[in-house]
Amino acid sequence: MKVGCVKEIKAKEFRVGMTPDAAKVYASAGHEVIVEQGLGLGSGFTDAEYEKAGAKVVKTAKEVWDTVDMMVKVKEPLAAEYPLFRKDLILYTYLHLAADKPQTDALLEAKVKGVAYETLIDHTGGTPLLAPMSQIAGRLAVQEGAKYLEKIFGGEGVLLSGVPGTKKGKVVILGGGAVGTNACKIAVGMGADVTIMDINLQRLAYLDDIFGARIQTMVSNDANIENEVREADVVVGAVLIPGKAAPKIFKKKYLKEMKPGAVFVDVAVDQGGCGETTKVTYHDDPIFEVDGVVHYCVGNMPGAVPRTSTIALNNATLAYGLQIANKGLEKACKDNNYIYSAINTYDGKLTHLGVAESFGDAY
Ligand code: NAD
Repeated sequence: MKVGCVKEIKAKEFRVGMTPDAAKVYASAGHEVIVEQGLGLGSGFTDAEYEKAGAKVVKTAKEVWDTVDMMVKVKEPLAAEYPLFRKDLILYTYLHLAADKPQTDALLEAKVKGVAYETLIDHTGGTPLLAPMSQIAGRLAVQEGAKYLEKIFGGEGVLLSGVPGTKKGKVVILGGGAVGTNACKIAVGMGADVTIMDINLQRLAYLDDIFGARIQTMVSNDANIENEVREADVVVGAVLIPGKAAPKIFKKKYLKEMKPGAVFVDVAVDQGGCGETTKVTYHDDPIFEVDGVVHYCVGNMPGAVPRTSTIALNNATLAYGLQIANKGLEKACKDNNYIYSAINTYDGKLTHLGVAESFGDAY
C-alpha cells in the first residue's frame, strides 16, 4: 500500500501523524511511504531522517494526497483539504465528526474511508488512541499550574514543593480519570500536598491503592470542593461525563474565598470546561484572571509539547495503522474489532452510531 503523511495546516499545530521511526516500520513491511517536505520539523524530525527511514519526501501536500492509499494524520482535515479527498482513500486520524457537519459531508460525498482515532474502543471500553493525549494534558496541567503560580505571571509566588521549613503547595484535582491520575503523579512527584476528588468511589479506591498515603482522596461534591479549593494553590479540572458537556463543579463563588494568585487549570475546557468562569484560551495567550484567580484553559494542551505528543501518539496509532496497511481496511476490521469501532465513514455512509446520533435526523 502507499502510505503517506502531510503537515497539519491547523494554526499552531506542530504534531505530525508519522515519525521517522513509524515510517521505517511501514517501509520495512513493504509499504511505499510518501511524506511532505518539512513534515516533521515542528516536532524536531528532519527530512533526512524520513529519507533514511525509507520514505520518499515530496514537495507538496497535494502530491501526497493525490498518490497515497492511506493518509495518516493528527487533526481532522480543514476545509482547504476537502478538495483533496477521493474515493476509497483511507484517512486515519482524529476526525471529531460529531461537531463538524461540513467535514462529515465532504468525507461522505467523496466516499473516503474515515477511520477516527477517538472512536477506536478496546475490550475494556477504553480509548487507547485518546489515552496518550490525556496522559500528556494531565502531566502538563501541574507543570503549567506550577509555572503560573510564579509572581511574574500574576500567581501567588509559591513553589509547589516548598523547601525545608516552608509549607508545600496544595494541588486539588477534580476528576480522577486518565487526566487526573497523570496530574496526580506529577503533583506527588513535585512534592505537593495533593487531594484528588471523584464521584466514582471505585476510582478513588484505585487511586488510594496506587498512591497510598501520599495523597488524600475525597468524594466530589459541592461542600467538599468548596472546602478544599479554599486552601488550594493549584486546582486542576479533569472531569468528564462521556458524550456530555462537563459539569460546572468549580463555581464562581469559590474564587473570592480562594488565595489571591491561586491557579485554576481547566483541562476539561474541550468539553466546555468544569469551571463557571472558564473560557477557551490558546497557547500564545493562555491565561486570564477572575476574582484574583489565574485561569489556564488551553483546549489543545498536548500541542505545547509536540515532540513528546507526536511520539506518544505514534506509539499508540502505529500498531493499528500497520494492520490496516498490511491487510487492507476490510480484512483488518474482520480480524480486529477495535479497528472496526473506529470506522466513521465508508462508501458514502456514516457508519458510527454515536456520531450519527449526535446529528439527529441529518443523515
Ligand atoms: P476520564 O473519563 O478518564 O476521567 C474523567 C473522570 O471524571 C472520571 O473518573 C469520572 O468519574 C470523573 N467525574 C465525572 N463527574 C465528576 C464530578 N462531578 N466530580 C468529580 N469527578 C467527576 O477522562 P479524561 O481522559 O481524564 O479526560 C478528562 C477531560 O480532559 C475530558 O474533558 C477530556 O476531553 C479533557 N482533555 C483535554 C485536553 C486538553 O488539551 N485540554 C487533553 C486531553 C483531555
